[in-house]
Amino acid sequence: MNSNLTADRATFVTHLECSITGERYEADQLHGLSRAGRPLLVRYDLEAVRASLPKRMLETRPTDLWRWRELLPVRHTGNIVSLGEIETPLVPIPKSGGPNVLVKDEGRLPTGSFKARGLVMAVAMAKELGVTRIAMPTNGNAGAALAAYATRCGIETIVFCPDDTPEINVREIAMQGARVWRVNGLIDDCGAIVGKGAAEGRWFDFSTLKEPYRIEGKKTMGLELAAQFGWTLPKAIFYPTGGGTGLIGMWKAFDELEKLGWIGSERPKMFAVQASGCAPIVKAFEEGLEHAERWEDAATVAAGIRVPKAVGDFLILRAVRESGGQALAVGDPAILAAVEACAKKDGLLLCPEGGATLAAYTQALHTGLVDEEDDVVLFNCATGLKYPMPEAPQALDRTRPIDFDAL
Ligand SMILES: *Cc1c(COP(=O)(O)O)cnc(C)c1O
Repeated sequence: MNSNLTADRATFVTHLECSITGERYEADQLHGLSRAGRPLLVRYDLEAVRASLPKRMLETRPTDLWRWRELLPVRHTGNIVSLGEIETPLVPIPKSGGPNVLVKDEGRLPTGSFKARGLVMAVAMAKELGVTRIAMPTNGNAGAALAAYATRCGIETIVFCPDDTPEINVREIAMQGARVWRVNGLIDDCGAIVGKGAAEGRWFDFSTLKEPYRIEGKKTMGLELAAQFGWTLPKAIFYPTGGGTGLIGMWKAFDELEKLGWIGSERPKMFAVQASGCAPIVKAFEEGLEHAERWEDAATVAAGIRVPKAVGDFLILRAVRESGGQALAVGDPAILAAVEACAKKDGLLLCPEGGATLAAYTQALHTGLVDEEDDVVLFNCATGLKYPMPEAPQALDRTRPIDFDAL
C-alpha cells in the first residue's frame, strides 16, 4: 500500500497548479484563485494511483461518486459529507434525439442537479481545511447544493442570487439552512458582493472556479462516462456551459484516465452549448479568441447557463478546440421545443439547460457536425421538476354526465 494511503487517508494529491502560468501551490492549504487570478487545478501522483488501484478493484466497488476517491482531493475519509451521490444513468431518447443519443440524467443527484457533484467535494475540502463560513453567488442550483452539504457538516452559508432566480431555487436554499438574499443584478453582480465580503475576511468565497475543488467533483462525470462506456468514450458530448466547470472537469478526467492507462488517446468532440441570449463562449470561439468578453444584457429561460463572464473561459475554449468540437448557441424557443419534444415523445422531463443540449444536438446533426451513427451524450443537468411547465387546466365535473369519447 502506498504511504499516502492508510485506512483514513484516501488520496494522492501532490500539489495544485495555476491553470495559466503552471505555478505550483501547496496542497492541504486553503486556496482561492492563483496569484494570476486564475483557477487552480489539483494534481495527483497518478503513477502511485496506478500502482495501488487496479481497474478491476475499482470495478468491485459500489458505483457511487466516492468509488473514485483516489482521484479526488479529500484526504481524510472522515471529512466526506454525503447525501447519496449515485452514478447517474444514461437514458436513451430515440424519438426526440435519435438511435444513438443518450442523456446523462444528472437530475437524480442530491438537491436535483449536478451541482451536487462539485459542491459535495468543495464543502468536504472546506471542512477539511477548517472553513466555518462560506458565501456564494448563484443562479439557483449551486446555492441549493451548497446549502445542503454545508448545513450537513455545520458550516454557515450566505447565498446571493439574481432577483429573478427561479422561486423554487430560492426557497430550497433557505429551507436547507442557508441565509439567502435576492439581489437586483446578475450573477456576476452577486459575485462582486461575495468578493468584497471575502476581501474583508467575513467569509470564504465559493464562486465558480474561485476555489479549486468543484472541478474535481464535476470531473466524476467524465470518470463515470468512461466506466459506463466500458473504458471508451462517446463520439461527442453536448454540455450546457455556464461557468464551464463540468466541461473543464471532464476534459481533465479524460487526461488523468489516459495517464492511468485506462482509456486511449481518443477524445469526444466537446460541444459547449449556450443560449443565444447569453453566449460569450460561442462569440469568443467564433472570433478565435482565447478569452471571452462579458456578455451584456444576458437573458435566457435557461438560468443555469446565464453566466455573462466565466473565469475559466480559456479552459473551456481550449478543451473545445483541442477536442475538435465547437461552441454552439441555441435560442429560447428551440430550448423550450426540445424540452417538450423529449417529455412528450420519450417521457423524459429535461430542465431547460438539458433541453438546450438536445436543441444543439439537432442543430449539429443538420449542419453535419455530428453523424446520426455517432454515440452522443447530452447532459441533463437538473431535474425538470424544478422548472415551470405549461398549464394543464382541464377539469372534470363528476356530478354531470361524462362524455367518455371526449376524454
Ligand atoms: C450550473 C448549471 C449549468 C452550468 O454548469 P457549469 O458547469 O457551471 O457550466 C447548467 N445547467 C444547470 C441546470 C445548472 O445548474
